[in-house]
Formats: sequence, structure tokens, C-alpha cells
Amino acid sequence: MAIQTCQRCGAQTAKLYECDYCQKKVCENCLKSSKRKKVGKRYICKSCWSDLEKRKAYKSEN
Ligand SMILES: [Zn+2]
Repeated sequence: MAIQTCQRCGAQTAKLYECDYCQKKVCENCLKSSKRKKVGKRYICKSCWSDLEKRKAYKSEN
């Protein structure tokens, strides 16, 4: 697997998660939380977690 760069902190990692709220691909350190959705998983990064509107949306969505 190719090494990729986190779009939030610039860290080099083999595994990135796409935040569902800002569409950035972030590393595990920048990922705040994840949960299951109908297809795959929903991810939220730490930047979006600190945004109350996005955090509320994350918490209320299934
Ligand atoms: Zn985000």
C-alpha cells in the first residue's frame, strides 16, 4: 500500500480516513470518531468535531 499524506496534519501514513464533513483524508491521529452507517462507516475529524454544528450532525445521524 502506498504511503499517503494526511490532509490535516501532513503526517505520512498508509491508512487515511475520509472525513464525512470536510472530505479531507486524515490520519488516525486526526480522526476523532467513527461509526457505522448503512454502507461502510462515517468518519469525523478533530477539526469538524470542534465545530458544534458538524458534531451535532454527526451525533444525530445513523
Ligand atoms: Zn473534517
